[in-house]
Amino acid sequence: MQHLLEIVGITKSFGATQVLKTCTLAVDPSETVVVIGPSGSGKSTLLRCVNLLETVDSGDIFFEGENITRARRTAHLLRRQIGMVFQNFELFAHLSAVENVMLAPVKILGISRADAHDIAADLLLKVQIPEKADAFPDELSGGQQQRVAIARALAMRPKLMLYDEPTSALDPEMIREVIDVMATLSAEGMTSIVVTHEMGFARRAADRIVFMEHGEIIESAPSDRFFGGTVNDRTQRFLDQIL
Ligand code: ADP
Ligand code: MG
Repeated sequence: MQHLLEIVGITKSFGATQVLKTCTLAVDPSETVVVIGPSGSGKSTLLRCVNLLETVDSGDIFFEGENITRARRTAHLLRRQIGMVFQNFELFAHLSAVENVMLAPVKILGISRADAHDIAADLLLKVQIPEKADAFPDELSGGQQQRVAIARALAMRPKLMLYDEPTSALDPEMIREVIDVMATLSAEGMTSIVVTHEMGFARRAADRIVFMEHGEIIESAPSDRFFGGTVNDRTQRFLDQIL
């Protein structure tokens, strides 16, 4: 089986600081990979390189077998196929929930407003807030806003979803509703890379757990082995801190 995504020995520095040191990672179709690691270890940078929001210094990234590393001219085409969800939701404040979800299908794919509205309504149902279609972001809780952000990413029918600490900005009682949506998508076969320290999500949805430290992938273990207790010492030390 061809990997959906293959990251091969990528490096990235900001000035004198090497943020990614020869990172290699492959993600298969329908796989959910959870990435954990201390703050500053390079998790966000890794996701941003995949989405071509950052350019790598060396190494290669393949998406569906195609080398996208230096595909600057087609970056916008690639980004359509990769959905990204951020810690702080980043919804358009002047648009309602349904309009946030409709925007890219109308503007980028040229779908009619009527059809885009139907698609968006279905997606808001999928993330379990159909009744909030006409609410504006400031009328929604953090958990609701993040679910709109997930629906907005899904509206482009991505082949890969990237989530960067999607529940870190949420009050504890809202974490569950976002995790439930992500876990359901994963169970339905959405290929996902999720940076999160919610080990409940990892247990439920991850096929593989990756541990990063100081810009390196220290460990990439199938969930059963990871939760079976045989992890690298450095990974264990990190888990002892967060659990
Ligand atoms: P994480 O998501 O694991 O917390 P990041 O990928 O955000 O880590 O950051 C890794 C390192 O790269 C940090 O030391 C951070 O300060 C640095 N960094 C990230 N983005 C930039 C940038 N645009 N310019 C300079 N340094 C950056
Ligand atoms: Mg980060």
